[in-house]
Amino acid sequence: MTAIAEVQGTPAEHTHCPYCALQCAMTVTEADGGSYVEPVWFPTNRGGLCRKGWTSAQLLDHPGRLETPLLRVGGEGRLEPCSWDTALDHVAAGIRRAQATGGPDGVAVFGGGGLTNEKAYQLGKFTRLALGSRLIDYNGRWCMSSAAAAANRSFGVDRGLPFPVSDLSSARAVLLIGANPADTMPPFLQHLATAADAGGLVVADPRLTATARRALDGGGVHLRLRPGTDAALLLGLLHLVVVAGRLDTTYIAARTTGFDEAWGHAAAWLPERTERVTGVSVAQLERAVALLADARDADAGAYVLTARGAEQHADGSDVVGAAIALALALGLPGRPRAGYGTLTGQGNGQGGREHGQKADQLPGYRSIADPAARAHVASVWGVEPEELPGAGVSAFELLDSLGREGGPSAMLLHASNPVVSAPDSGRVRERLGALDMLVVSDFVLSETAALADVVLPVPQWAEEEGTLTSLEGRLLRRRRSVTPPDGARDELWIWRELARRLDRGPERFPVDPRVVFDELARASAGGKADYSAISWDRLDAGEALHWPCGADSPDGTPRLFTERFATEDGRARFAVAAVRPPAEAPDAAFPLYGTTGRVLSHYQSGAQTRRVPELVAAEPRAWVQVHPVVAAGAGLDDGDAARVVSRRGAVEVAVRLDEDMRTDTVFLPFHFGGTGRANIMTLPELDPVSRMPEFKVCAVRIEAL
Ligand code: SF4
Repeated sequence: MTAIAEVQGTPAEHTHCPYCALQCAMTVTEADGGSYVEPVWFPTNRGGLCRKGWTSAQLLDHPGRLETPLLRVGGEGRLEPCSWDTALDHVAAGIRRAQATGGPDGVAVFGGGGLTNEKAYQLGKFTRLALGSRLIDYNGRWCMSSAAAAANRSFGVDRGLPFPVSDLSSARAVLLIGANPADTMPPFLQHLATAADAGGLVVADPRLTATARRALDGGGVHLRLRPGTDAALLLGLLHLVVVAGRLDTTYIAARTTGFDEAWGHAAAWLPERTERVTGVSVAQLERAVALLADARDADAGAYVLTARGAEQHADGSDVVGAAIALALALGLPGRPRAGYGTLTGQGNGQGGREHGQKADQLPGYRSIADPAARAHVASVWGVEPEELPGAGVSAFELLDSLGREGGPSAMLLHASNPVVSAPDSGRVRERLGALDMLVVSDFVLSETAALADVVLPVPQWAEEEGTLTSLEGRLLRRRRSVTPPDGARDELWIWRELARRLDRGPERFPVDPRVVFDELARASAGGKADYSAISWDRLDAGEALHWPCGADSPDGTPRLFTERFATEDGRARFAVAAVRPPAEAPDAAFPLYGTTGRVLSHYQSGAQTRRVPELVAAEPRAWVQVHPVVAAGAGLDDGDAARVVSRRGAVEVAVRLDEDMRTDTVFLPFHFGGTGRANIMTLPELDPVSRMPEFKVCAVRIEAL
């Protein structure tokens, strides 16, 4: 590989880590036949990187890198190398066959929150125009959809953090619900140091995570709730805000609607009942409320933040609604040095949910059902609004329909590995196997790519140009630092070549990402996520631009809601629902809560990090974290091989004893493949609004292997 850009030192020339949404800044340099990264000071990471970021360049030169298209020869046969023409001709023929029998929706598309903004946009456009299919969704549905649904409902817009990350740095009180950034995005912990050192960090999590330990070490609080009781906990806290006289009545009257209905739900969550249901003591609940309200009253900074632990439930949008209601009751959103936010997961988890790879969405965070939005986007695309298909279905529903009667018989899949990351992943693997044609674009042979009929090798992060949008809604440039392997082709090129073969107007699918961005910016104009005043030139000049950044806000909007919320009346809505129990409760056959999450050394499905030697050395195989008493009950000791069994399937893992675990709960990381795939167990019960699956709670038992 040859270094093609000098990226050292200059803030406007660095790139960003390929993994999570903190998007730590770094340079990439080639030396001694390999590449290495160095951190760059940036407001989100302040010069820090976690071990995933430090080792990220190792994948660029990985021997398992895909460098030529692969084609499955003879039904169940092996994947064999082939030319790009052969691969793309095969894909185009498969699309034609699928649509000849199934109509436009005979082909489905699955995207990913790791795609650049340009690619996420173009993938949505390709699906609607070149394929004419309504069936597109992406893995971000399993990440951010509950927070997005709740924020849209309460604030009228969904930007993960409606304020810069650095605003958190001086806060004296932060309530984190279902977030473990000490493992998932360690440099972020710098922004919680003031709160943690002041004893104001409150972590709600069933486990004593590294983040919860940090809270306790500083004198803060760990609310060790029973899995699946997040909504009850939050309504109990809201109840206490009211009865303790800490409600911000002036703010509620001036800036919100719906408090009375919210109180109608919260009134029943008396402290003792909340303690009984959640397992969190009344004293801890009272302390959490006092910390937040005292920090607010002292104007010392008070925030409520959620993440996947609270959001990945079949009532996830209501849990987040309750978290927002708590923040509104305290008068935090839109107030200086205060607010509510969600910690976005994937690298482009924010931009990836704004520009059209979601089933119900057009660019600019527009609804595909809105006639005005359809007319605007159609005019940018040079088609009639009637040519745009309607809304599709959510990620799990889409995958579950594959190969069934009336469902799609072909799928194009990008930047995702659902064989490991989907809920009830055994069922999803079966559906993928039922397709007549599965086409996977990736740079390594992931578990999903290994099932494909055609595998298309694409560039990695440091080999491509584009933009991403970080967890605070700031546009970032991803810069090409090394050349991709000769055999890899950019997705933009792939989609244009497919459009050419399908005779669907290849000229509508430019391959220059800068040209695609300019079109995306025009398509987003006037939408909620308005990028129309943003250009690569401005980003390359080092400007810090947060959306919306359009005609009314040409310098961007680092802080939302300072004057009004994005709802029709400008007020935030309390949106609180009745508490629902988890979809699957423990019983005699499956007596434990099974819950899943991420660890420090791996990222998402592990397709990337399980190929990095240092990370594999740190976490080589799947494990289950379990209390010694529970393990002893199953005849298990530390390090033993165990089977964790759910109604959907069983996982084989190594036992890790932990005296701090709840005795009703086991925890499994979801990064591993093969028999260690934790998502074999998870439940595809979906949130009625966001369609988020119930990833975080299922009923299991543990037994010796
Ligand atoms: Fe930063 Fe996240 Fe990358 Fe770690 S994984 S270096 S926290 S962007």
